[in-house]
Amino acid sequence: MIYQMQLMKLFKKNNKKEKFVQKNNLKSYIKSKKCFKLILGANNENYSEIEKLVALYSAAGCRFFDINASMKSINAAQRGLKYSQKNKDCFLCVSVGADNDPHLAKCKINENICKICEKCISECLQSAIYKVNNKILINEKNCIGCSRCYDICPFNAIEKYQKIQDWQKNLPELMKLCDCIEFHIISDNIEEINEKWNYLLQNYNGILSICADRSIFSDNILINQLKNMISKNPDNIMIQADGAPMSGGKNDYKTTLQAVAAADIILKSGISVPVIISGGTNSKSAKLAKLCKVDISGVAIGSYARKIVKKYIEKEDFLYNKKYFNEALKIAKKLVNEI
Ligand code: SF4
Ligand code: SF4
Repeated sequence: MIYQMQLMKLFKKNNKKEKFVQKNNLKSYIKSKKCFKLILGANNENYSEIEKLVALYSAAGCRFFDINASMKSINAAQRGLKYSQKNKDCFLCVSVGADNDPHLAKCKINENICKICEKCISECLQSAIYKVNNKILINEKNCIGCSRCYDICPFNAIEKYQKIQDWQKNLPELMKLCDCIEFHIISDNIEEINEKWNYLLQNYNGILSICADRSIFSDNILINQLKNMISKNPDNIMIQADGAPMSGGKNDYKTTLQAVAAADIILKSGISVPVIISGGTNSKSAKLAKLCKVDISGVAIGSYARKIVKKYIEKEDFLYNKKYFNEALKIAKKLVNEI
């Protein structure tokens, strides 16, 4: 019994030490200004895709992965890291948010309005929309709520709905396994934002990332809100300046411009925590930030990073087929090295 208690103590001690080391390693990685984060989607529940993408991008040199806040996503990401044997070098971040945040939305089709024109099918980078028995449907698991289908539908047949995460319930378990929690604050419910943020500050001692954009607040209100959130623990906080569109998928300067502009406003306000950019980001993002003299610490890429390797990831045997894996690896490495 005494021996078991000693073992438990040792386990707890080692666990704490490992967490502390990972936290410092993640801080150094962000401070290197070469931080590349792969966004798998705050609402992406396609676990096979998560496993394959984490395996591929970790092998390509990416060290930071942003996933849905569930044990299933963490397990899928860990399987991917085991495959590439990069478990010890990489950091997992789970994304949570205010209830109204668009990153927690999904889309569905109103069958009574849909004219089956099929325009939305090719627009979806997640391959979530399909036609069966003369109906257009969305696979909820694959939908990340990017709104591309919603924006393109000529008949307004697509509706958005919020898929609220019960992340506070799962947090004790998630906290043990992730190095970072990202809190999305794109909502006008400031009271809810502050309440949930305080909860995170009190309960989590890893890195906290705030994902914010300029769509809801004026620049002044946004900056004041960020300063207020950071003031209690600036050492463990970073910001992800989010641009629009949320899911660009295009590889040009225009698509990534809003992300760089959001980072510029935040950095010019005197906020001194590291800032990375997301939202419409692509292989041009780091270059654009440099050209505009916006001193970001890195780039988080979602849709574009997934799109360029999509045809390989969709293969069932992707992880067992060296030819597919190596071809995709070349593409992924090129993108990671652009940062
Ligand atoms: S674009 Fe709109 S109308 Fe066309 S198939 Fe999709 S949901 Fe239906
Ligand atoms: S386009 Fe975006 S919002 Fe529409 S189904 Fe695909 S992932 Fe979901």
